[in-house]
Amino acid sequence: MFVEPHHKATGWIEVICGSMFSGKTEELIRRLNRAIIAKQKVEIFKPALDVRYHESQVVSHNATAIRSTPVHTAEEIFLYVSECDVIGIDEVQFFDSQIVEVCNRLANAGKRVIVAGLDMDYLGRPFGAMPTLMAIAEFVTKVHAICVKCGAVAHYSYRLAPSAEKVLLGEKDAYEARCRRCFTEGMQFEKNH
Ligand SMILES: [Zn+2]
Repeated sequence: MFVEPHHKATGWIEVICGSMFSGKTEELIRRLNRAIIAKQKVEIFKPALDVRYHESQVVSHNATAIRSTPVHTAEEIFLYVSECDVIGIDEVQFFDSQIVEVCNRLANAGKRVIVAGLDMDYLGRPFGAMPTLMAIAEFVTKVHAICVKCGAVAHYSYRLAPSAEKVLLGEKDAYEARCRRCFTEGMQFEKNH
C-alpha cells in the first residue's frame, strides 16, 4: 500500500494507473479522504467529458463518491488551486498533453498532485499522456483487476461492444478486465471472424 513521504518539503506527483475494474478511483479517493481528514485543502478534478454518472462527482464503480470539478482543459485547473495542498485528477488519460506541464507546474509550486487513469486503451496501446505522466512522477502505483475469463491478474480493458470510440472506455458493460493471454486470444478471435 502506498505510504506518503514523511516530510512535506516539496511538492510531488503520484500516478495511480491500471485497467478498468482495477480500483484506480477507489485508491485515489482513499488517498484524498485521508488528506481531508488531516485538514489539508484538497481539490478534485476530472475532464468535463466524463459525465457517466454524475456531473460534479468522482464516482467509482462501487459508488464511493467524492465531489469534483469538471474542467474542459488541463490549464483550467490553475483557476481553482492557489490555496490547495493536494490536487486529485481522475480519468487523467482523457486530457491532452498539456496535462503534463500542468502537473509539473503544480508540483513545482509545492503541491501534492495525485492523478488516476487508464494506462492502456482497449487495443492495449499506452493511453494519451499516461506514459509521460508515469515518467515524470515520483511515485507510480499500478493496480490490477481480475481476469473475467480465467481469474489471473488482469491489466487489459477488453472491449465487448463494437465501437472505435475510445471515449466509450468507462462504460462498464462494454468492457471486461482480461489477463494478457485472454486479451490476446480475444483480439485474435475478432481478427479471424
Ligand atoms: Zn485470463
